Amino acid sequence: MSTLSAAGSHVGKVRLNNQDSGYAGEHLFVVADGMGGHAGGDVASALAIQSIAHVDRPFENPADAAQALRDALLEANQELAETVFEHPELAGMGTTVSGFVRVGDRLAVAHIGDSRIYRWRDGVLTQVTKDHTFVQRLVDSGRITAEEAAVHPRRSVLMRVLGDVELTPEIDVEVLDTRPGDRWVLCSDGLSGYVDEERIGELLDEHPDASAAVEALIDESLDHGAPDNVTVVVVGVDDTPSSSAGRPLMVGSATQPLSYGAPTQRRVVRLPSLLLHPLTPATDPEDEHFEPESEELLAALIAENERRKVRRRITWSVGVLLVASLIVGALAAGYQWTQSRYFVGVSNGQVAVFQGVQQSIGPFPLSSVYFESDIDIDELSPFSRERVESTINARDLPEALSIIDRLQDELD
Ligand code: CA
Repeated sequence: MSTLSAAGSHVGKVRLNNQDSGYAGEHLFVVADGMGGHAGGDVASALAIQSIAHVDRPFENPADAAQALRDALLEANQELAETVFEHPELAGMGTTVSGFVRVGDRLAVAHIGDSRIYRWRDGVLTQVTKDHTFVQRLVDSGRITAEEAAVHPRRSVLMRVLGDVELTPEIDVEVLDTRPGDRWVLCSDGLSGYVDEERIGELLDEHPDASAAVEALIDESLDHGAPDNVTVVVVGVDDTPSSSAGRPLMVGSATQPLSYGAPTQRRVVRLPSLLLHPLTPATDPEDEHFEPESEELLAALIAENERRKVRRRITWSVGVLLVASLIVGALAAGYQWTQSRYFVGVSNGQVAVFQGVQQSIGPFPLSSVYFESDIDIDELSPFSRERVESTINARDLPEALSIIDRLQDELD
């Protein structure tokens, strides 16, 4: 039997634990990507999913569903803060949450962080959530392009998440329409960061069954090396009022018993270290973290970005200059060489010595008349005339002149 909705999660190929969680129920579908070092990220996403799961129920209208979902995210935020209060070793943990409740032909969406929701309609994949990342802010302000953002070394720096930082974090809430045939993909950046949208669309097209699509999308991320945890929920819409996954599915760290364990060494990246450390590869799995949205941080990161751009521009300019001077040098040396050559040919109907070579660069000849003799080309024997017309190479000027002499001799 084919499935309309499904969820899957994989630890990936680099990380030791899965900090993602996912949920596919009857009305509610969610992904959460936790962060906060070795202890915390898994707790954060699991707590969030578990405290939101009660919203998986039928609603009268999408506005009520949106309100309930938003409230659930704020409750999850509160629960994270309380957990950190009781377990100070978890300080700094946080999680993204992107999810929706389907109410007939409407979806009540709530989103915070950089997990994504895509709509797949008529073969076109459209991202309906906006990443709450530093690089997205740079894109929005026209400083970099979306393509540059996708490979930016700071692309994992989040500006907003649920966690112990803010009492009421800003959550994007909206109501979208949906119709039979639509499919929705919710995923952590373990998928969207490594598999491009075109490929996601292709895989949806190839796999009409939701479980098969989830499996194919996760496999694709693994094929790309899967440096990060990857979680995918696929939700199909038909003409029935819900998109049930059959039975509620929980995936990722939400399926594990919560264990806070002993405090472990966490690497909490704060502003000073962020600016003092050289750029780390964007795929460094430890690089993912969040920073509360602050103007100082944004200003510092923008300044860093500008410095990077200037450095790049300087490197580029120096490179261009170097290449240009090499080309000019080579051309000059080449031209000098051509001007040491001579040949005998025809100029104004007279036999002449040319300095240079017979070739030309586009409209520019690489030779000029050096000496025009008073031998009329028509006076020569047909054999000599043909040779001169097709030019006769000389090693140097004396040899060219001696060729002229021999031609003169022919006439005497
Ligand atoms: Ca992630």
